[in-house]
Amino acid sequence: MSQIRTVKEANNIVEVIGERIKLDVGGLNYKACCPFHSEKTPSFFVNPSLQRYRCFGCGANGDVLDFLQNFEGVTFYEALKSLADRSGITLQDFQRSGEDEEREKLLEILSLAKEYYHFLLMEHQVGQVGRDYLKQRGTTSESIKLFQLGFATNAWDSLLKYLHHKKKYPLELIEKTGLIIKGRNGGYYDRFRERLIFPLKNHRGQVVGFSGRLLSQSPKEAKYINSPETSLYHKSKMLYGYSELFREIKKKEQVVVVEGEFDMISSAQAHVNHVVAIKGSALTVDQVNLLSRVVQTIILALDADAAGVKATERAIDIVRAKGIDLKVIDLKHSTLLAEADKIKDPDELAREQPKVWRQAVEGAVSVYEFLINHALDAFDPKTAEGKRKIINYLAPILEGIEHSVEKEFYLQKLSVALNVKESLLKADISKFGQIKAGAATSTTPEEVSASKPTLKTYQQRNEEYLLFLLFSFEPDKIQERAGTLSDFNFSSLGFKQIIERLLLVKGKFSLQSFSSALAEDLKKALMDALLNPEYEKNAKDQDLEKEWLTTLTMIKKEALRREIASINEEISKLDSSLERSSEEEARLDQLLTEIVQKQAIIKKLG
Ligand SMILES: [Zn+2]
Repeated sequence: MSQIRTVKEANNIVEVIGERIKLDVGGLNYKACCPFHSEKTPSFFVNPSLQRYRCFGCGANGDVLDFLQNFEGVTFYEALKSLADRSGITLQDFQRSGEDEEREKLLEILSLAKEYYHFLLMEHQVGQVGRDYLKQRGTTSESIKLFQLGFATNAWDSLLKYLHHKKKYPLELIEKTGLIIKGRNGGYYDRFRERLIFPLKNHRGQVVGFSGRLLSQSPKEAKYINSPETSLYHKSKMLYGYSELFREIKKKEQVVVVEGEFDMISSAQAHVNHVVAIKGSALTVDQVNLLSRVVQTIILALDADAAGVKATERAIDIVRAKGIDLKVIDLKHSTLLAEADKIKDPDELAREQPKVWRQAVEGAVSVYEFLINHALDAFDPKTAEGKRKIINYLAPILEGIEHSVEKEFYLQKLSVALNVKESLLKADISKFGQIKAGAATSTTPEEVSASKPTLKTYQQRNEEYLLFLLFSFEPDKIQERAGTLSDFNFSSLGFKQIIERLLLVKGKFSLQSFSSALAEDLKKALMDALLNPEYEKNAKDQDLEKEWLTTLTMIKKEALRREIASINEEISKLDSSLERSSEEEARLDQLLTEIVQKQAIIKKLG
């Protein structure tokens, strides 16, 4: 039996998926809301006897290895390895890419660094200053252990010596983790010095980076520093505390989102332990995607400053697209708190008044109520000018509420607060809401194309957008750009021919003479791409070069994913036959190698 089969048979797909999303029993199958597209009624089924999953909404389907690759965003090898580990199987000489190998090494280094820092904090005399600091701010030893806090000494090379001299990892490899920095003279030194250390884990519980809080009072240095973006650490995907508190979050089906490390830890200590920190105020699409797999409600507890309000406004669209509720802990308007306590951050509040913090979480208000209150504070609801500003501000927000009953509810509230007839208010909201919402439409091609239902696939729309961008370059640049596409396999009909024709043009390029010489169907394909107002809006004010590269990368990756999917299909056919000929075995090996190679290219594309 092949190793892949052994690993698959040792891991029940129902358990593996059930560890990650909430599965309900439904007849012969288990069902859930699909983790791969937004929906409110479950169309995602897991069949225990076939050991396969299928979504009747978006068509996602496959076996346990496919699920892990898609759900966790890992390579075939990583999925196989994690299932092997889960079931205590050791993979024998499995061929893996150089990239997979390096990734494993980097994770090892990061994990060792975490243990090293933790040891210094817990056991070593140099860690005394860190221990004192944590004691003084009431961080419990349970928290220190759960989140594996650590301490970095003030030496320039303490971690470096440990990892390089003692553990023998090459400097270039350690540098790739972001833990050491190459100086101007070519020597390396530790990034984190004399700081309290927070290991940052990805959603799979692997340490991928660190953040460090300064303990001395040095005005020259930043209070917090973080790992730089590396192949493993991406700030926009980071949810601090997520892997440690995952069970609580999944059980509660809701999550409290705070800004900083200590906000998260103090909240957990106050028994609000369905909490994560986003390390900043901007909730990203990646973070919401991750959370939306397990929660129904996101409760924001961001700072009540201008940045926090802006971040809350932006979060509305991201969260709404996922069909989950967005609430806000509005300390400023809370009746639980004395006036002086209303400016406290979650960390202070959770430490000083844990019970009030719990009540504040319970009493979180809808994001619309929060923004209405904010607008009523920011502008004077008694003057005509103030009313106008309030309506202008709230119109696009309230106009976007899908449920009419819910919308009505907030309109009523606002009409009372402004002392304006509801029917008048309704007219204004719908008028100004549409203008604003139009002006502020999304910026990524993905969102633009998603908002416009057509028969074209995601990939085809992106290809069209790429063509649009191509012809937005200066005439003398167009051919050079087109040259980079000459080998590309477009999924849109006619695009390959358009590029070929383009490369044949001699002399000065003019769109008019070029397009007039094209056959009718090519002309139509070209015009579809060039005249689409969505693309125009989308590219407006964007850096053309950057848009071009981003879109190109997206398309290339999607093309590879499609190729991988079709290889996977062939693999499952081969893998499900009980008796395989030696040719079939060889073919299977070849296919697996191809997948590994293609996945390596995807990784490289970033
Ligand atoms: Zn789906």
